[in-house]
Amino acid sequence: MNSVRTVIDMWTFVYNGERIPVTFQRISRKNLIPSRKRAKIMRMFDDPDYAKALRSVALRVTRPRMAVMRAVEQHPHADTELIITASRQYLPDISRQTVYDALNALAATGLVRRIQPAGSVARYETRVGDNHHHMVCRSCGAIADVDCAVGEAPCLTASDADGALAGFEIDEAEVTYWGLCPDCSAAQTSSRSHQ
Ligand SMILES: [Zn+2]
Ligand SMILES: [Zn+2]
Repeated sequence: MNSVRTVIDMWTFVYNGERIPVTFQRISRKNLIPSRKRAKIMRMFDDPDYAKALRSVALRVTRPRMAVMRAVEQHPHADTELIITASRQYLPDISRQTVYDALNALAATGLVRRIQPAGSVARYETRVGDNHHHMVCRSCGAIADVDCAVGEAPCLTASDADGALAGFEIDEAEVTYWGLCPDCSAAQTSSRSHQ
């Protein structure tokens, strides 16, 4: 673990024709930000729980990853654009590509869940591992969580009267509830009453 970390953090520069390795950590931006400002930024997203979560899936603990985790946690079901904006509140210089990369790493390791209802862009949430479903508003796209009835996938029993599923192993039933959110439902009712 330690040796991998050293390789990743190593930066080589050439001085008088000699390659000289430098430990990247020691010259990182962290040391260039005035300490009071740094303390404020760190308080905003440097939650030890995020570091613990990253380590638990063998991801290196980085400030961009922690900023993105906090952004997703603060904005459940947010799309990438909103996550970029929110991440910049914690790390003003974070690039779009860094946010994409962080989201991909977090989704691939299961720390965040990526959902994509039909007709929507990908959205992210930190509520993972409980097989919860989503209610999606057909009109404005608002998304609300719906607890899984059973608590684990698949929460629907597949009917199989003719034995067509023999030999299949079902591991998930993807359930999306569609309808109107309270606002859109109220708007529709009032526009109907004005006709
Ligand atoms: Zn709506
Ligand atoms: Zn959700």
